[in-house]
Parts: sequence; C-alpha cells; structure tokens
Amino acid sequence: MQTLHMNAGSGETSYAKNSSVQSNIISAGKRITKEAILDMLSNHLSADSIGIGDLGCSSGPNTLLVISEILNVIYAKWCLQGCGSSPEFRVYLNDLTTNDFNNVFGSLPAFYTKLKEEKGSGFGPCFIVGMPGSFYGRLFPTKSMHFVHSSSSLHWLSQVPPGLDSKATTHLNRGKIYMSKTSPLCVLEAYLIQFQKDFSLFLKSRSEEIVPKGRMVLSFMGRRSPDPAADESCYQFELLARALMSMVSECACIVCRHYCVTPVGFKDPPSTFLEDELGVLGYQWSTFRIQQPDLTLSALCHVPYLDIHESSRELA
Ligand code: SAH
Repeated sequence: MQTLHMNAGSGETSYAKNSSVQSNIISAGKRITKEAILDMLSNHLSADSIGIGDLGCSSGPNTLLVISEILNVIYAKWCLQGCGSSPEFRVYLNDLTTNDFNNVFGSLPAFYTKLKEEKGSGFGPCFIVGMPGSFYGRLFPTKSMHFVHSSSSLHWLSQVPPGLDSKATTHLNRGKIYMSKTSPLCVLEAYLIQFQKDFSLFLKSRSEEIVPKGRMVLSFMGRRSPDPAADESCYQFELLARALMSMVSECACIVCRHYCVTPVGFKDPPSTFLEDELGVLGYQWSTFRIQQPDLTLSALCHVPYLDIHESSRELA
C-alpha cells in the first residue's frame, strides 16, 4: 500500500499552486474562527503560553495563512486588553510524515520577519514547529493546546474501509473508487463506520490535549444530502473512476480514502466536547476550464463545520 500526499514543492502541479479552493474555505470560516478564539481567550487571557495547532496543514500559502490569522486575532485582543507583555505562542503544524515540511520550514524566516514588522517587538516570542503524524491519535502533550484548527483535512479517512481494500477477496464496489449510486449498501455503511471510528478517535485524542475551555474549529469537505451517494459528493469521483478504470488493468483496485459527512453525521460526538455551533458553508467552486476553451466544469462543495470546546472539567 502506498501513502499518498499532496504534491510537494512549489511547481505548477504542486498543492501550493493548486489550493485556492481550500484557501477560500479558510476565508469562509474566518468569522467562526475569530469568535472561537475570542471565547477561548475570555478564559485564558492571563496564560503565559498559548498552544495553537493546525491539523492537516499541508504545504503552501494556506499553511501560514491560517496561523497568521489566528495570531492576529489573539494579539489584537491582547493589545486591546492592555494585558502587558504578550504571551509566548507555541504553534504546531501537523500533517502526515510524507508532507513537504521542508517547504513550510523554508518559508518561516520570511514569516517571522513579517510578524515582527507588523506587530512590533512586543509580540511573542513565537515558536513554530512541525508535528508529523496522524491526527487520528495523540499528537501533543496532555492539556497543552488552547486552540486547534483543521480545514479541508478531516474528510480523509485513516484507511480504506475494511472489506474494500486490495486484500478483499470480492470486489464489492467493482468499477468504482468511492461511493456511488450503484454501490451496495454495505459499501456505503463501510465508509460511514470508518468515518465514525476515525472521528471518535480524533475527538478522544484532542480532548486529552486541549486545556479545559480550549476551543477547536473544524471544517470538512461534505454534503447537504442525507444520501451518501448523492451527486453533490460523488459525481467528481464517478468521473475520476471512469478515467482511471479505462487506464488500469481489470484486477487493479483503487479505493478513495475519503468521506463527505453531513452535519447530521456529527450527532453526539462521543467525547467531552460540547458543540457551540454546527453549520454548513455553501461554497461554489470556481469554474475550471479543461484543455478545450469551451469545456468547463463547475462543482458545488458544501463545507460542514464544527466549533466545539473542551469541557472535561465541567463534566467531571
Ligand atoms: N489545511 C490545508 C490542507 C488541506 S489538504 C488547507 O486548507 O489548504 C489535506 C491535508 O490533510 C493534506 O496535507 C493531508 O496530508 C492531510 N492529512 C490527511 N490525513 C491526515 C492525517 N490522518 N493526519 C494528519 N494529516 C492528514
């Protein structure tokens, strides 16, 4: 099995040059992120050290865009309150070990310089580090994080749902790489079960790492329809499946490790988190032109988001 990752570097086909959709999703979530940070600060304004994590940070302009916005909100609040010296910021950039962290690290000197220029010498210190590993498990020390963010990442499952992988003796989803209208019910269920398992583990891990009254904002690629095989979330994979299947041999097995959740799919997160806001950002993808100037493809992507806070102390 091969672990895939976003295209490294900064060339034409890199993730860095092809992530404007994800960048717009980050912008669409700005209000929610700001409100969550301000609420977290109302409980932690006197903290000396603030732990911030971006999970599934990838490499490219979005990585530091998110961090810059989070730091802006925290520091502006600090200045407004006249709280004396700034806290130190511990910023953890997480992604899988195959991520192009070198590219991210290469852009840090310019980022630190910009922070100093924009905010002055009263800001920080700010320590930005890479935290390679899967977010479906522990990443950070116990109760060390104040604000955790993740955008366009949690729809990636930890693994292909069992029974659908290349080791399976029968191809339950023949000719398809994801859920589709012709997929048997057991395939749809296998994806949902894998998502629920992964998401529960994600919440459990974060609940051990986030301080009481810490906050987390998560946005996912998702769908509005309760039907998991609805066109809005599956159509693009149908097209991709057709293209791939015509290129590969009969016995090849390609399965997407991806799940589009609905807001309802978040019901009863099995953890100590309390939900503050759950909603959907409707986002119109830009229209792409493919090769011939008259052939265009546009798609609508719905982005459920979840704004939750860690409240283990209240529940204990
Ligand atoms: N947040 C960025 C990147 C989104 S792309 C943005 O908004 O532009 C999704 C990222 O999630 C990829 O870089 C991928 O490697 C990462 N990812 C997928 N599964 C992961 C996991 N289990 N743990 C950590 N990162 C993961």
